Amino acid sequence: MGGQSRLFKNGRIASADSPDLREADVLVDADGIITAIGPALTASEGSEVIDCAGCLLVPGMFDVHVHAREPGFEHKETLATCAAAALHGGVTGLVLMPDTSPPVDSGNLVKSAMDLVSEVSAIPMYQSGCLTKGREGKELAGFSGMAARGVPMLTDADRTVPCPDVMRRCMEYACDFDLLVTSHADTPALSKAGAINEGSVSYRFGLPGIPAISQEIAIDRDIHVARHTRARLHLQQLSTACGLASVRRAKESGVPVTCEVSPQHLVLCEDDIQDYNTHFKFNPPLRSAGDVEALAAGLIDGSIDVIASDHAPHTEFEKSSDFGSAPFGASGLETSVLVLYDRFIHGGMFGWDLLIQRYSVAPRQLIGLEPVGIAEGAAAEFFVFDPAATTKITRDSLRTKSPVSPFFGESLRGAIRGTTVRGEWFP
Ligand SMILES: [Zn+2]
Repeated sequence: MGGQSRLFKNGRIASADSPDLREADVLVDADGIITAIGPALTASEGSEVIDCAGCLLVPGMFDVHVHAREPGFEHKETLATCAAAALHGGVTGLVLMPDTSPPVDSGNLVKSAMDLVSEVSAIPMYQSGCLTKGREGKELAGFSGMAARGVPMLTDADRTVPCPDVMRRCMEYACDFDLLVTSHADTPALSKAGAINEGSVSYRFGLPGIPAISQEIAIDRDIHVARHTRARLHLQQLSTACGLASVRRAKESGVPVTCEVSPQHLVLCEDDIQDYNTHFKFNPPLRSAGDVEALAAGLIDGSIDVIASDHAPHTEFEKSSDFGSAPFGASGLETSVLVLYDRFIHGGMFGWDLLIQRYSVAPRQLIGLEPVGIAEGAAAEFFVFDPAATTKITRDSLRTKSPVSPFFGESLRGAIRGTTVRGEWFP
């Protein structure tokens, strides 16, 4: 690799195993391997010393739900800007959603996507594939070709497979290749052209609502199909207490199901939407305060396995249209760790160990990767976090190509000083 050796001095090391932090220096060689961890390490000549006094060294996060938009929508984001955003947010690996243009629904398209990743991305990215051809919900995509290319999961990315028979065949076929089926649980016949959670806020705004049952019914359907087929099912972006209760019951009865939640669904509710601000328009929508509370409890008790940002960049121009017609989604990679630190870890709701478990360890395990930890002999893959600093979230503070965020204007506690991966240091 021919990089530079680095000494991370006077930091405290966080891990998934314990909320306690270990004070130690960390020495990383020119190939990016951690060669020593201990007190008062000295740097060899020519190595860079990074002063981490007061800071934490935290294992790199892994995001299983990212829309990088390339190819086809490079005006929103590219693989290179997506990687820059990820590094800026302490994320050192991710899964790409297949809703590019063309959608990734064959082995050949997986290969060309991975070729592009290896050319332009500073971090590991894994290309997922579609469940159905063109994400149209009708014919099965090229499972065997995509399996041969090593796809980490199959998903129609922010679109449900509407027909239960097609979903059943997807899951049956996925079992033949031991592929993970990932579902955006939604019932289009109920969601229709909804823009916001159905309830008092949608009535007040005069906007068409997306009812909670739209997701809840779809969750139950997918769980039943998984129970019947024994396919491994991962549910994206849980948003309601009732949907979470279904997942809990399914897990207790032995259905092979996992699920994820986004930082926005953990900390924002429909009442936070002011002035028709489209930066708060998500799919699934921000729900009630009670749902938010239930999701946080589910994250802590382990009913929710994984945190995933659903990084879904759209240009400021696209998001500047009216609430009903603006696209769903916002940029999330750069704010996830900061938001979760600010709202949960700082107040003692949970420790770094839980965040690392749900946003670094479990997501990697979900797709069969080894977790990354800060240990001698391991590749250095961590970020430096300053808990005493604050980060003001503005359009200029973000590195994504499409700075759109519901957290604009907020000063969040903590700051990410830089991230190291593959022997490089990205301040
Ligand atoms: Zn998404």
